[in-house]
Amino acid sequence: MRRLLRILLTAATFVSLLLFALTAGLWLRSHWAYDALGWDDGGVVKSVTVLHGGVFFSADEIEGRPDREGVNYLNGDAGPAAAYENAGAFGFSRNHYGGGKLGVPVSDIVRVPLYPLVVTLAILPSIGYIRITRARRARSRRRRGLCPSCGYDLRATPGQCPECGAIPPAKEARLPKPGG
Ligand SMILES: [Zn+2]
Repeated sequence: MRRLLRILLTAATFVSLLLFALTAGLWLRSHWAYDALGWDDGGVVKSVTVLHGGVFFSADEIEGRPDREGVNYLNGDAGPAAAYENAGAFGFSRNHYGGGKLGVPVSDIVRVPLYPLVVTLAILPSIGYIRITRARRARSRRRRGLCPSCGYDLRATPGQCPECGAIPPAKEARLPKPGG
């Protein structure tokens, strides 16, 4: 069971690392270029756009039909940020235009910032990196006859560390690492 959990955690860490790289790359790119997917939903053009560090979900009423059927991909220069983009707290915002008596086409735009996703996806890989670094350091210390916990020289007292009290695992129990 523990083994299965460890395999699942490792898989989740790799997936998280991959998604982190993708979203971090997208976040960086969104500062100088936008990427958008748009489709027609019964006279309303819906789109998802990554721009200026955020994801914009918009619904725009249009007159006439869109040029193309299906989902369209658009991209181009990001340009300067519009004032409404950063109007909300923590980069979240919701804007509504048009409608009412003027008959202006209705437009709804919701902005969700990308950074919370990038930060969240970095958690598992960071923990994994710390664990690997610690395990590597402990292995290296054990090899050199030092306490795996604090690095104190244990050659005179191999049973227990006089500095931190840690009891190092018996050397016989460990298989030699290839190339180590
Ligand atoms: Zn110690």
